[in-house]
Amino acid sequence: MELLKERIKKDGKVRSGNVLKVDSFLNHQMDIKLFEQIGKEFKRRFADCPINKILTIESSGIGIASIAAQSFDVPVVFAKKNTTKNIDGALYSAQIESFTHGKVYNVIVAREFLNPCDNVLIIDDFLANGKALMGLSKIVEKSGAKLCGAGIVIEKGFQEGGKLLRASGMRIESLAIIKSMTPDGEIIFED
Ligand code: 5GP
Repeated sequence: MELLKERIKKDGKVRSGNVLKVDSFLNHQMDIKLFEQIGKEFKRRFADCPINKILTIESSGIGIASIAAQSFDVPVVFAKKNTTKNIDGALYSAQIESFTHGKVYNVIVAREFLNPCDNVLIIDDFLANGKALMGLSKIVEKSGAKLCGAGIVIEKGFQEGGKLLRASGMRIESLAIIKSMTPDGEIIFED
């Protein structure tokens, strides 16, 4: 998606540890006009799927998933990061190691919001090592719902998540795939 790639080149900041900061338009301040275009692009790419629910993870996935949901006309469920170990039977849970914080979170979704009739699209802002996507897909699997695929805004193609998950059969549509980025700020995209 050219508009997105241009924006990343203009406003993205490469930080140590393979972190790309896009706080000025994606995950702190949010450019809602850009989000609308991103939502329409996800809808175009997944037009062949009977998606009736979008699943994301708090917190940075929520904004983008919510605007995308308007294009799909479906509800959004976000997995909550749960600090207590007390999981009762009314929840699906999975463990996710955070790329940016290095911590392991237990994430939960209430059973009432995901069920075997659902056709789910997972949406997230970044794909790096794939832990968030793996955890969310486990929750979908536990619920008996069908996973249609994942829509990712920025994939760091030089990290392993995309390769591993595609090899496992997951359909992933990433709107910008970064081939490489350097500490002096040069960002190169895959075609
Ligand atoms: P993964 O689980 O694929 O390793 O990492 C994905 C999650 O980590 C995303 O939900 C995103 O919030 C965060 N993340 C991974 N890489 C980056 C990055 O370069 N920049 C930012 N801002 N977040 C990232």
